[in-house]
Amino acid sequence: MPIIITFAETREVKLRRASLEAVSEARRLASALGASVESVLVGSGVEGLAAELGRHGADKVHVFDDPALASYATEAYARALAQVIQKVKPTAVLVPFTAMGKDLAPRVAARVGAGLASDVSGLSVKAGRLEARRAMYSGKAVATVCWEGEPQMATLRPNVFPLAQPDASRSASVAKASVDVTARARVTAVHASGAGKVELSEAQVIVSGGRGLKGPENFHLVQSLAEAFGAAVGASRAVVDAGWVDHQLQVGQTGKTVSPTLYVACGISGAIQHLAGMSSSKCIVAINKDPDAPIFKIANYGILGDVFEVLPRLTDAAKVYFGAAR
Ligand SMILES: Cc1cc2nc3c(=O)[nH]c(=O)nc-3n(C[C@H](O)[C@H](O)[C@H](O)COP(=O)(O)OP(=O)(O)OC[C@H]3O[C@@H](n4cnc5c(N)ncnc54)[C@H](O)[C@@H]3O)c2cc1C
Repeated sequence: MPIIITFAETREVKLRRASLEAVSEARRLASALGASVESVLVGSGVEGLAAELGRHGADKVHVFDDPALASYATEAYARALAQVIQKVKPTAVLVPFTAMGKDLAPRVAARVGAGLASDVSGLSVKAGRLEARRAMYSGKAVATVCWEGEPQMATLRPNVFPLAQPDASRSASVAKASVDVTARARVTAVHASGAGKVELSEAQVIVSGGRGLKGPENFHLVQSLAEAFGAAVGASRAVVDAGWVDHQLQVGQTGKTVSPTLYVACGISGAIQHLAGMSSSKCIVAINKDPDAPIFKIANYGILGDVFEVLPRLTDAAKVYFGAAR
């Protein structure tokens, strides 16, 4: 029976949502391919998370649980994933397109001699093989790609693939494994930047600000609306380059790729490099005073107006609405 492998990324001993999306998608593909799903879980104190992967679709979980694997280290993590791939010879390998996945997947692909389709936003089965859709030229075109040989390896854009409802009756078998943890580079400490209260790449709602805010002293208008929505804060590169906010908040080609349910762009023109990072958002609201701003071409809702007037009113309304709803 063919096997689909997923890499299960964790943070602070919790599975990241993108890991559950990957296993949900693997389960869906497995039904079409007559395959089984196996996940690879690496970290310290993570064995208990195997059950959650089982409820989301894994049949088996390979667990590398070692205090030396508490922090992500490229060499050891890549060794662990490659070890499982070499052992089970899967037909496909799915890895979340997160900061960790972007670092890990190419190294593993090179090690096992696999072709890698990165930042994939759709997968389908055709004649027993996978086909992937991925954005090209900053989102101006969508390419359909397929693989020669196996494993067919892909990194999946977070927040695009639907999360399966956990099935309490499902469980996964656990295969404990170990790996050589020696590495030439070692993480000695992790310091949270504190850039945003809600993690940008996993956020369901994002409020982003651009140069239309005129200066860093006005960026609190974006932060206040985000707070009222319980949203993450994002930014265009123009304001990051100007030093108004931390680079962690940058959305776009050279920043983060996001796919929230709601993306509110405030005073952002909609340059192609910005759209590359957020155009797969499910609903886009743009606030801009220029009716010809390119952002309006992809917005589901446009507010033609001045951010200094619109944002405080929207924030007040959101506070009243969510205050009543909470
Ligand atoms: C290689 C490369 C990579 C890049 N990567 C990225 C990236 O990752 N992310 C990114 O964002 N950009 C990126 N850029 C930069 C990109 O091309 C744009 O320069 C940038 O996105 C513009 O930011 P902005 O929309 O905030 O500013 P602007 O383009 O200056 O737009 C400001 C907007 O605010 C509006 N506005 C002004 N005043 C008000 C007001 N009072 N009320 C309402 N609206 C108002 C204006 O009408 C305008 O549309 C990249 C560029 C290059 C060359």
